[in-house]
Amino acid sequence: MASVYPASPAVDPRLLALADQCVMCGLCLPHCPTYRIAGIEAESPRGRIALARALASGTLAPSAAALTHLDQCLACLSCQKVCPSQVQYEEILVRSRAATAPLRPAPTRLQRLLRDPVRLTRLARLAARLRSGRWLPRLARWLPPDSHLRRLAAAQPQPPRPLRLPHLRAAPAPRGTVALFRGCVASVHDRDTHAAARYLLTALGYAVVESAPAQCCGALPRHLGDIDAAARHAAATRAALQASGAEVVLVSASGCYGDLKEQVLADGTPRVVDIHAFLAADPQFAALRFRPLRARAALHLPCTQVNVVGDTAAIGRLLARIPELTVLPLPEQPRCCGAAGSYFLEHAQIAERLREEKLDQAAALAPDLLLTTNIGCRLHLGNGLRQRDAAVPVRHPLALLAQQLENAAS
Ligand code: SF4
Ligand code: SF4
Repeated sequence: MASVYPASPAVDPRLLALADQCVMCGLCLPHCPTYRIAGIEAESPRGRIALARALASGTLAPSAAALTHLDQCLACLSCQKVCPSQVQYEEILVRSRAATAPLRPAPTRLQRLLRDPVRLTRLARLAARLRSGRWLPRLARWLPPDSHLRRLAAAQPQPPRPLRLPHLRAAPAPRGTVALFRGCVASVHDRDTHAAARYLLTALGYAVVESAPAQCCGALPRHLGDIDAAARHAAATRAALQASGAEVVLVSASGCYGDLKEQVLADGTPRVVDIHAFLAADPQFAALRFRPLRARAALHLPCTQVNVVGDTAAIGRLLARIPELTVLPLPEQPRCCGAAGSYFLEHAQIAERLREEKLDQAAALAPDLLLTTNIGCRLHLGNGLRQRDAAVPVRHPLALLAQQLENAAS
């Protein structure tokens, strides 16, 4: 049978130069979730770099197997984080996926949707309005097994529980304007987190401007190799954030942070800051008071929080302000939970296996709730808990902080 991958990708000298920086030491292998599962070189970072290099230099034909190994990478960047040679794995992966895109079969409808965050957000908004999370997962079993449609239906999240927050006392003096980045799909599914962020920032005296719904950092299409679509979204978002007049853009979803900082606002105007670090560094945050909460909170640290944002201590410092709250970090962080953007839809088997491991680790801690700082992880883990009939809510740490804030007039 004729191959559907007949040609070689155009030679990309930058990709070859980046791949040549890998000294093949293998120190990244134990940190790679797909290598841990499959146990073969082609599912490891070193193997994927070699594959990308061979494809780019034309020494390997772009077979379905070779492209699948590249596609099965979660882009969790645990390899990049530990690499002593500072190999820029993410850029190698994105360039390789982009270069091989024209050689692949035409994208499916779902794949086209995943590359279009504006349409995806519109669909998420419609689904939220129809409360599809309450009924669509039950109907999913009637759809063709192993189909993308079935996975999409089964993954419809429950709407976030609205936060009931009392009125705030007016802050003693205004302290400037900050922008809150809400993202694309997160602007629908992480509404409670954004309400919480606004509340805490207002309590500290900041005026908050919010990015428009569906404004996107471009991470979703970029990681799928659609760098043109990613660049279009980045340009539109850059223009909007620069017009906002804010000096700082705060990000509550770690999955958006890296692209926003490095692709959208690479020149630092306005500055992109992780909201946890921003709050924890604010001396006035120490003056806020929080009501006690006797609960066990398991803390999942997303790959993007550990490997891209790089600051996890701030989250712990913020949560430590809630008296009587026991924070229990999951073991072996940041092992990926399998969400990884749209990965859980396209590589469901691997994603589910990773999620099961994560949920077993969480269950062993007997938590009352599970906390995470990325919307993709929150939805993926929440769906897994629902399938287990486990009544453990998954929330963002900011939602808990806002709920327990005492500095408010009721
Ligand atoms: S990516 Fe880095 S850690 Fe992994 S094999 Fe190459 S040089 Fe070694
Ligand atoms: S990004 Fe993650 S899944 Fe991909 S090769 Fe690196 S460690 Fe493995």
